[in-house]
Amino acid sequence: MARVNTVRGPVDAAELGAVLMHEHLFLLSSPAGRAHPERIPDEGRRVGDAVDRLRRLKERGIDTLVDLTVAGAGRYLPRVQAVAARVDLHIIAAAGLFVLDRLPPPLETHRDPTRALVETFIGEIRVGIGGTGVKAAVLKCATGRRGVTPAVERVLRATARAQLATGAPICTHTHAASRNGLDQLRIFAEEGVDPARVVIGHSGDTADLGYLEKLMETGAYIGMDRFGIDPVLGFERRVDTVARLCRMGYAAKMVLSHDASCYNDAFPEARAAEVPNWHYFHLPDDVVPALRARGVGQGQIRAMLVENPRAILAGGVRRPERHDPEFSCSQEEER
Ligand SMILES: [Zn+2]
Repeated sequence: MARVNTVRGPVDAAELGAVLMHEHLFLLSSPAGRAHPERIPDEGRRVGDAVDRLRRLKERGIDTLVDLTVAGAGRYLPRVQAVAARVDLHIIAAAGLFVLDRLPPPLETHRDPTRALVETFIGEIRVGIGGTGVKAAVLKCATGRRGVTPAVERVLRATARAQLATGAPICTHTHAASRNGLDQLRIFAEEGVDPARVVIGHSGDTADLGYLEKLMETGAYIGMDRFGIDPVLGFERRVDTVARLCRMGYAAKMVLSHDASCYNDAFPEARAAEVPNWHYFHLPDDVVPALRARGVGQGQIRAMLVENPRAILAGGVRRPERHDPEFSCSQEEER
């Protein structure tokens, strides 16, 4: 089976097990944090806390976490490496640039910023990130509530070109209420990207089934990946939406995650009480049992947590019968 690069090096795709496809370890969104991601307050305690959380996550049956923290969001790989060295859980790093509005100053004045971005992203996948030798296995890009600004479009096109050059999948950030996952897919298609190599992230922030079906009908996966951000969409509606889409035959096109982090410098711990479920354990502890109670089969859970992530990360393209809800169950029975 294909090998997938993790922070500690390549592993067989079969070893990835259950995967959280969109999380963060250390997210730095403040201007100071982004300017100096190599420094965070209480570094040692923060690393210890991340190690503790990831060990507890592994005990709950999660084997791999995809850390979609890229440049522009405080990525600093040596700190992630320090965590990875102490846990029995695979961490996957991402290439890309987080931009919602404007390019960072050095690129704004570059004579060919798109080309510079493509080369940087390809280097992060083939050579490694920032001199660490840690190779990214996914590409990340974003579109926010301001939509596809000229800078966002540039980054989306550069990400698409790096996808074509490397084969690495694309996992995105969207503003689901604006339905701008469709804009991303249009731009990727113009660049020649196979939608089956794309996960439209944060799709779980909406219960608009028409929009979600439209995304999946292109062949793309959708990330139901913000479980725990209940002020945006409540727990019941998030769970109901996934259960309904499973009944409609889409278990083979969804992945599950939280978009949570161990440390977020723009989100003080004092505010954690506002989102008590926003942490790595919500899926195994609460969401999976709630899905099962709504009739989602074990095989469908396995598709969303194990088989779909493996197909995305290992480059395999699954082409299930669209309207066969038993697809993933029968797959499991064959084993
Ligand atoms: Zn995220």
